[in-house]
Amino acid sequence: MSQHFLMSAAARTVSLKQVARMTDGEACALFRKIRWPKTNGAAVCPHCDCPKCYEYTTRNVFKCKACRKQFSETSGTLFAWRKLPIRDYLIAIVIFVNAVKGISALQLGRDLDVQYKTAYVLAMKLREAMAAEVRGVVLGGEGVEVEVDGCYVGGHVRPENKKEDRKDRRRAENQSGKRQVVVVARERGGKTVTMVFGTEEEGASFIKARIDRNSIVHADEAAGWNALHARFAMKRINHQDAYSADGACTNQAESYFARLRRAQWGQRHRISGKYLTRYAAEMAWREDHRRESNGEQFRTVGFRAAALPPSVDWCGYWQRGACSLILCVQRFDSFST
Ligand SMILES: [Zn+2]
Repeated sequence: MSQHFLMSAAARTVSLKQVARMTDGEACALFRKIRWPKTNGAAVCPHCDCPKCYEYTTRNVFKCKACRKQFSETSGTLFAWRKLPIRDYLIAIVIFVNAVKGISALQLGRDLDVQYKTAYVLAMKLREAMAAEVRGVVLGGEGVEVEVDGCYVGGHVRPENKKEDRKDRRRAENQSGKRQVVVVARERGGKTVTMVFGTEEEGASFIKARIDRNSIVHADEAAGWNALHARFAMKRINHQDAYSADGACTNQAESYFARLRRAQWGQRHRISGKYLTRYAAEMAWREDHRRESNGEQFRTVGFRAAALPPSVDWCGYWQRGACSLILCVQRFDSFST
């Protein structure tokens, strides 16, 4: 019997001990190769894209020959204004990609020996890097099959202690109003995109915007998807009768939800409704990349983090947005000059 890919040595191409043993110089060199793959790690100016730069090796700073501006290897990336050594960020990425069901900020903080707040923001930035991969992506195409489904998260109402005090939690007046639905669209053999809504019906417009209209869309019996018939060739499966019948099935969308549920119950216990969109996108990335080696995943997340500008949401999060304000001002300046 052939070995499952994840059991093979080919799935383990990067390890925590390998990165933890790196010197500062080796970690910097690796990050530069991830950030500037076209020049094999040689610095490229983030201000004017000029490939000719001096390096002040004692200060670990570059200076552009063209625009004369100085920068470091993390300038203009998600890790800009970093406080930790680069090796710690690389270690964080390895821990993060290896945690296939997600990881809590407390756990990451214990592994890195940093404050909870540091680990929380770092993990959120890595989630942003993962989510960037499917930003604006439209799934499907002529004859391509895409599965859609929804999964309710949050809004739990704890039952009262005594039986006579308990209420019927199925009734709308006894619910908390905080329940949300994660809507997923998953192309077979392709990418997964997610969004969070109040009801499945509200998700129909998102599905229409993110799936090519020539696609074949698979959905379950929920009434919320009836609105999709006007736009797509639909295949519906009634889960009361079967999980797969007459070529219709949404099992790949269900697989995504299985991973999301395990992250919710097994890792985080509670997911903040405010940031549910980000957790949902993280699990979609993990689902899409589950059959890649961890070294490949490490490079993908590292490259995305290096390609993204400093995060407006997470840079200076614990300073109550003071840094975000500076960022907005800087961006406004760069657009206006
Ligand atoms: Zn320059």
